[in-house]
Amino acid sequence: MIKSEYVIVGANVAAVGAIDGIRRHDTKSSILSISYEPIGSYSKAMLAGYIEGAAHQWLEYRGKGYFDRMGVKCLIGRRVTVLDIEKSRLLLEGGEEVCYKKLLLAVGGAPFKPAIKGAENKELVFTFTEFLDAQKIRDTLKKFNDVAVIGAGFTGTEIAYTLNKLNKKVTVVELGDRALVKALDPKSSEIAESLMRDEGIEFYLNDTVEEIAGDREITGVRLKGGKVIPCQAVVTAIGVIPNGQLISGTPLKFDRGLDVDEFMRTNIPDVYGAGDVVKAVDITDGQKRSLPLWPLAYQQGLVAGINMAGSMYPYAGGLPMNSLKFLKLPILSAGITTPPDASYETLSTGDPKNSFYRSLVLKDGRLKGFVTIGAIDGAGVLTGLIRSKIDVSGIKEKLLYKKRIGLMQLPRDWRNKIFTRRDETAYHD
Ligand SMILES: Cc1cc2nc3c(=O)[nH]c(=O)nc-3n(C[C@H](O)[C@H](O)[C@H](O)COP(=O)(O)OP(=O)(O)OC[C@H]3O[C@@H](n4cnc5c(N)ncnc54)[C@H](O)[C@@H]3O)c2cc1C
Repeated sequence: MIKSEYVIVGANVAAVGAIDGIRRHDTKSSILSISYEPIGSYSKAMLAGYIEGAAHQWLEYRGKGYFDRMGVKCLIGRRVTVLDIEKSRLLLEGGEEVCYKKLLLAVGGAPFKPAIKGAENKELVFTFTEFLDAQKIRDTLKKFNDVAVIGAGFTGTEIAYTLNKLNKKVTVVELGDRALVKALDPKSSEIAESLMRDEGIEFYLNDTVEEIAGDREITGVRLKGGKVIPCQAVVTAIGVIPNGQLISGTPLKFDRGLDVDEFMRTNIPDVYGAGDVVKAVDITDGQKRSLPLWPLAYQQGLVAGINMAGSMYPYAGGLPMNSLKFLKLPILSAGITTPPDASYETLSTGDPKNSFYRSLVLKDGRLKGFVTIGAIDGAGVLTGLIRSKIDVSGIKEKLLYKKRIGLMQLPRDWRNKIFTRRDETAYHD
């Protein structure tokens, strides 16, 4: 039996945030971090680069020595199969028991897998959410030339772009009427999609894959609309949902995400949650939802860790942000990009060649979200303005048209308001 004061299920960014947080206030007690993956903390944003051929060390987030340096025992390649809340213990695959005084669930998200006829038992059907997925794709690259990617969200477009770069013939199938529907507004979706089409990627919108044809080897995908696209591989990239596998059957509150309060505490004493598994506050509308983003996972982990070590430190909430760095033009978005109702004001501008585009979404004079393409220098100021909730009606034209928005262009008292959160949880990674 293993005993540890703090046990963290997970060893990636939310876990790292928590370790940093615990060690700020408790340098002595034992910490155990457990992950079923074969590597410890690593950057998922780099997985595409790994498929392209980068060494796996390149993915490392805090480096090999991090856990040792922090005095953390790490069980890598070990899966937790049972969470026994009543007895404050976990069971590992194989039956080994782990007892905790305080527990953090930093188990991340799981790929949403739609039930598609013919998807079972085929070697070249992939997801794209973790290291093992990327390794499987990389190891089998030589076995396919044509690939269908299901989903035109963030990970779908990223894997489509990557495989296209590796000279595969890529077709993206998307149920919605445009690409990147959650991150972008209709015009910026159109620009992103046309940048991808220019690279040779094909799109089928308003459609979905009903069947993956072939016996053991894939011969194609059949769309709901009737079209058959020949291919030898399929990547499903429909989205990531909070990973509730370990949680179901326990008294922990979980409904499309683990329920946590502002201190990252669950409904069970001494059990905390952080990262992609939880629903946390989105500062654009104050609602709790799952926001699967790296910096937010770190911050939530940090807050959880600080509080597990005895403080009462609130999580300030997170701002959804997306950046598409792989396209020819940089695209950045944050907050609400497509207004949900008529109470929002939308302003947009762009040049005829679509090399610059910007849209702003405001409510009651406050900036709630934006998209900027081609000129991303002012994005830090724009996100600062969303966070500060300052009434920007007097300068909204400037924010829209000026390609470079510097802090010096803002009134002096605003500058302080925008960058005042210099507290324990400010993200410096
Ligand atoms: C391809 C891709 C690209 C991305 N790019 C970006 C980006 O550019 N910018 C951005 O902000 N975000 C990006 N993200 C999202 C970001 O990576 C996640 O928000 C972040 O990794 C969440 O961290 P986490 O620690 O909560 O969970 P994860 O990183 O998912 O880690 C979960 C941990 O839990 C462990 N675990 C789960 N269940 C068990 C179990 N039963 N037993 C043992 N261990 C378990 C896993 O092994 C792992 O260590 C990307 C995601 C993907 C998939």
